[in-house]
Amino acid sequence: MIRGVALVLICAALALVPYFYRLELQARIEPGPQADAQVPPSPAETPGSGSERPGPVEGLQLDAPGPEDPPGGSLEVVDGDDLFALVTKQTTLGQYKPHDLEVIPEKMIHPDQRQWPYLLRREPLEQLTKMWEAAEADGVLLTVTSAYRDYATQERLFNEYAAAYGEEEASTFSARPGQSEHQLGTTLDFDPRGGKAGWDWLEENAHHYGFALSYPDAQAITGYIEEPWHYRYIGVAAAREWKESGLVLCEYLKLLQHRSAQQPVFNSSILKDPFR
Ligand SMILES: [Zn+2]
Repeated sequence: MIRGVALVLICAALALVPYFYRLELQARIEPGPQADAQVPPSPAETPGSGSERPGPVEGLQLDAPGPEDPPGGSLEVVDGDDLFALVTKQTTLGQYKPHDLEVIPEKMIHPDQRQWPYLLRREPLEQLTKMWEAAEADGVLLTVTSAYRDYATQERLFNEYAAAYGEEEASTFSARPGQSEHQLGTTLDFDPRGGKAGWDWLEENAHHYGFALSYPDAQAITGYIEEPWHYRYIGVAAAREWKESGLVLCEYLKLLQHRSAQQPVFNSSILKDPFR
């Protein structure tokens, strides 16, 4: 009898192990409200993303390593209201905060990440809405896993990664505060449902709605690992020209800067930009 009771107790204890393990795991991956975490798509869902790096549990987008920051804080300060602002390891947005952030409708957010509001600037949100509906009509569910992230949130996340991985390693997959395109309020991470078809839809259509892929498989140019989920809004005209050019986004943005410095050669239709 006693042996029987002991056996039942042991079985019950064993049955609870996965439950406690799950609680512990959740505690580790849940950043808490305001964190604007994203869970990057798994390599299996992400064509061409490779599996060479472990990838953060929650997703900081990777604003890349590239060359190290200039020593002594000599970063170029860029204006976040510039739709084409070059956001790199050599520049900083400082404490920039967009003035027209709006809440992304919950249906567009990844079902596992609806605990807190996700924000985006007004124009990219209008275009996101059009894109989301077009995808839905084509049978693809685009889900957003990260949107606007403020300076303080990025600072906290980077510090968490630095504590876990060391600062140097962390800087290869997490932007330092002031250096994330997510601080612009124009940048999104997606996790399209439907496997390869979903990813293909995004790649083939995003530019028609003004969204450009920031980090393709071009680490030699960007200094960043590939991030097929990370898209930045640059306006429809510019995004279409970017796509046609075949340039990596940072190269294209430099080209635009070069052009705008050389008025009247500049094609004004490309800079037609409500944020200016
Ligand atoms: Zn991102």
